[in-house]
Amino acid sequence: MKRQQIPAQGEAHNSLLERMAAFRTGDADYAGGRTWSMVYYAGDAHHDFLKKAHNLYMAGNALNPIAFKSLKRMESEVVQMTAGMLNGPATTVGTMTLGGTESLLLAVKTYRDRARVRRPWIRTPNMVVPETIHVAFDKAAHYFGVKMRKAPVDDNGQVNVRAMKSLVNRNTIFMAASAPQYPHGAVDPIDELAAYAQKKKLPFHVDACFGGFILPWLQKLGVEMPRWDFAVPGVTSISADMHKYGYAAKGASVVMYRDMSYLRHQFFAATNWSGGIYISPSLPGTRPGGCIAAAWAAMMAMGESGYMALAEQAWEAATKLREGVNAIDGLEVLGLPHSTIVTYAATGAAGDKVDIYAVADQLQEKGWAVDRQQSPPSVHCSVNAANLPVLDDYLADLREAVAHVRAHPELASEGEAAVYGLMAKVPIRGLVKREVIKVMETMYAPDAGEVDLTQPAEGDKTAELMQKYGEPIFEMVDRLSRLRERARNVLRFR
Ligand SMILES: *Cc1c(COP(=O)(O)O)cnc(C)c1O
Repeated sequence: MKRQQIPAQGEAHNSLLERMAAFRTGDADYAGGRTWSMVYYAGDAHHDFLKKAHNLYMAGNALNPIAFKSLKRMESEVVQMTAGMLNGPATTVGTMTLGGTESLLLAVKTYRDRARVRRPWIRTPNMVVPETIHVAFDKAAHYFGVKMRKAPVDDNGQVNVRAMKSLVNRNTIFMAASAPQYPHGAVDPIDELAAYAQKKKLPFHVDACFGGFILPWLQKLGVEMPRWDFAVPGVTSISADMHKYGYAAKGASVVMYRDMSYLRHQFFAATNWSGGIYISPSLPGTRPGGCIAAAWAAMMAMGESGYMALAEQAWEAATKLREGVNAIDGLEVLGLPHSTIVTYAATGAAGDKVDIYAVADQLQEKGWAVDRQQSPPSVHCSVNAANLPVLDDYLADLREAVAHVRAHPELASEGEAAVYGLMAKVPIRGLVKREVIKVMETMYAPDAGEVDLTQPAEGDKTAELMQKYGEPIFEMVDRLSRLRERARNVLRFR
């Protein structure tokens, strides 16, 4: 395959823009409300306004707040407006980041560095979190050398408080939980957890990346949920994404701390570089000004009334979706109705359960962007106001999809359903990891082809072997783990 080259002569702006617009056919249709995650669309007028605000500061670099006082000003105002919304005390401080993941990476780094100063004898620091906490914490653990101790959740999706408490040991440097957790939308019992953290003199982070900009408005609408923001005394930090329900342009989140004694540990300074004294508040070097400007503009343009109106519509859509799904024979909504996340799974006896991944394939064929989850196999919807006009269409397609899969159970072993089904079941997670890394290698190869999940990656035998020997391997591993359990019991009672 011939490598793409920089053109010898530049192409005309108009022709380029036309071609680029055409590249988008086949992308997820967010403006039409057919995506249930990834894009938070507040309508064409707001979208066009964001573009203008972004453009004004596109070239600005917030790495240097002295050269770009305008950006520093807008960043501070965004942080303070967010802190106010989340009942932060007057001492609340924070920074903007490029997204939820960066906010969470920074929170973990901050608490690691704080522990290094205050409890330097800790060799292997750990964090105690729910198993449903966002995977960005796994990434942070991997990057920053902090171990994760994960507590199981109850059937309603909330973490088990007793389990969280029992995982804290002398190497624990902080605890965290979610408002709400992404997989099923439940708000964890933050009150009880943060009180325990405070008793143990541990910081407590609330991941409100999803909920930060919608739960406050839902609470005003009367939706019941546990208390979760800075009004809870033990909460020391919160992350909230502006590029979700803040309706900012992509690349905007806020990480806030109760006071400077925490934020101090987020900062980086190098004093001996030949390039001069270098200070940086967050992960990147260059910080795109457009993201900060668009976030500030989004907040000012929305105002409380704008956020409230969109929250009301999103809640109406989520409620309709929840009721509609529960009314479909063979499906049920998981978790608790604390937020605009609606997750559903198949119900019924093992024999006549529909395969939810095959249902997902059917929806995808009908033009919906579908978010598939595992343990248990389920479909996730982050519901927005943009979904409200097409909600009845979605429910009709979903009913049809379920009926179709019921009539054609063989669909479970075809298409993407076969791949997801297998991946979710394989007990040897190392194999699955190898497999998905292979998929990424294909995507990022020099000739970066399009990836077809239903085909094994070229030259890779793992998928083929798993397809062929999958079931016997599951059975073997199952038998081995039962044997091990029995052996453990025998030893325990001797
Ligand atoms: C989206 C999300 C994140 C990660 O944010 P990104 O912007 O995707 O990096 C973290 N936690 C929760 C609960 C989220 O919903």
